[in-house]
Amino acid sequence: MIGIARPWPICPRPQHDESVPSWFERVGHEYTMSRAVLLAAVEREIAGTMPASAVLPADRLLERPFTEKLAALGQLTDPEKSCLWPPPSDWELKDQAFGVYCPHCCLNDLANNRTPYGRQYWLQSWCTICKAHGSALVIRKQTHIDSNRSPWSHTDLKHDREFLASNRYRDLKVPSHPELRSTLLGCLLYIERTTAAAISGVLPDAWSWGKLAAVEFLTILTDVTTWSLTHFEPVRSGLSLRT
Ligand SMILES: [Zn+2]
Repeated sequence: MIGIARPWPICPRPQHDESVPSWFERVGHEYTMSRAVLLAAVEREIAGTMPASAVLPADRLLERPFTEKLAALGQLTDPEKSCLWPPPSDWELKDQAFGVYCPHCCLNDLANNRTPYGRQYWLQSWCTICKAHGSALVIRKQTHIDSNRSPWSHTDLKHDREFLASNRYRDLKVPSHPELRSTLLGCLLYIERTTAAAISGVLPDAWSWGKLAAVEFLTILTDVTTWSLTHFEPVRSGLSLRT
C-alpha cells in the first residue's frame, strides 16, 4: 500500500498495445510536463521527499512500487494494467524510452484523431521494422522525447515517410557504435536473404546454419523470432525487385 493516491484529474487511457513509456509521456503532456519531470513528481509522491535527481532512469516505469503508484494515479483497470505491463520477454531495450516510431503508424494515429503512441513491440531489441508497414523504425530525437508537450507533426511525419522510402536500413536503433551497427545490419540482412531463399525452397548455407532443410530453417526462425525480426513478405518483395 503506497499511501492514499490522489488520481490524476486528466489521464489518457492506454491503448491496448501501447508501451508504458509512451503512455507515461502522454500523461505528462496533459500537464505540460516532460517525462523526467513527471517521473520526479511521482517519485516525490512515493518517497514524500525530493528525489536526489530530477532525472530518473526510465526503467523505473517497470518497478514496484512505482508501477502500483502509476496504476493508482491513472485509475487503471486490471485489463489496462495487464496490457501495459505484460510479462517481460527479456528482449526489452534497456533504456525503456519511447525511442523509435513508425511514421506510417503515427500518421494513422493522427488520421484517427489520437496522439501518436509507441507500440509495445517497438521496445523489443529485435524489432527494427514495423510489423504493419514493413518499413524501418525511425529514431526519435532526444529533444522530441524530452518535450513537455506533444511534439508530433503531420508535416514532419509525412517527411519521415518519404525519406524512409529510400532509407530502409540506414536508421536502425544503434545510431552510435558504428561497429555494432554494421554487425547488426550485416546479420539482419544475412538472415533476411536466407529467409527469402528458404521461402523459395532453397537450402540454407550449411556452413552458417548447419544441415537444415528450408522448412526446418523457417520453423526454427518462427520459434525464435515470431517472424517479427525479418518480416519476410516485404523482404521477399524487396529482393525480387532487386533481382
Ligand atoms: Zn507502422
